Amino acid sequence: MMKCLLCNTTLAFDFSWRWFFSFRAFETVPLCEKCHQKFVAIAEKTSCPGCGRKQKQRKLCQDCLRWRKLQTELLYNKAFYVYAEPNMRAYFEAYKFQGDYRLRQIFVKTLQDHCKKYLHRGWLVVVIPVDEQTLAARGFDQVVGFLPDIPKKMYLYHLKKFDRCPQSHKSRQERLATPQPFGYCGPADLERKNILLVDDIYTTGSTLYHARELLLAHNCGCVRSVTLAR
Ligand SMILES: [Zn+2]
Ligand SMILES: [Zn+2]
Repeated sequence: MMKCLLCNTTLAFDFSWRWFFSFRAFETVPLCEKCHQKFVAIAEKTSCPGCGRKQKQRKLCQDCLRWRKLQTELLYNKAFYVYAEPNMRAYFEAYKFQGDYRLRQIFVKTLQDHCKKYLHRGWLVVVIPVDEQTLAARGFDQVVGFLPDIPKKMYLYHLKKFDRCPQSHKSRQERLATPQPFGYCGPADLERKNILLVDDIYTTGSTLYHARELLLAHNCGCVRSVTLAR
């Protein structure tokens, strides 16, 4: 019997058997309908096209209007759920901070289906990494955990605090206000390949825009992003 990962209710019989025989454990979601509905989904037609934030209408939010002044192009982030509500916060608390690795399964299908659409069009999927210390403490990378079947590129790594040099690339880097947190370890030339960045939460956008700076510096094509929550 398959049980809801959040409330432990037994899920419908055929559901669990379909899961059992699918050989692809992540095709179905181990979550009951009641728990699923507790998360606040973001409808695309009423979200900010820049960051995916839930709004009343589809227009750029204040944050994205600011980003647009600094960036030549927005990331057009896709976000699935609202972060600033108790259920999603509790989810991340349990998954990331208490380290319940099983909980990744709830959103694997959502994120993988989105990535697959891009992979089919020849895009690369690049993951925003967690820093070494967090990885050691948590034992897993929460974004990698969401993408078990996706060919992921780990082109970025966290610079150690003392290695970060805010003065290294003046121009646009400086305009991002915070120092570049990442180093780059991908191919020297990305040959204009388009890239989908994946992260768990879009907060200010600066992590993702910093990541894009590095990819652009290595000759990538277009960069878009997707996050589970915004
Ligand atoms: Zn449930
Ligand atoms: Zn926005």
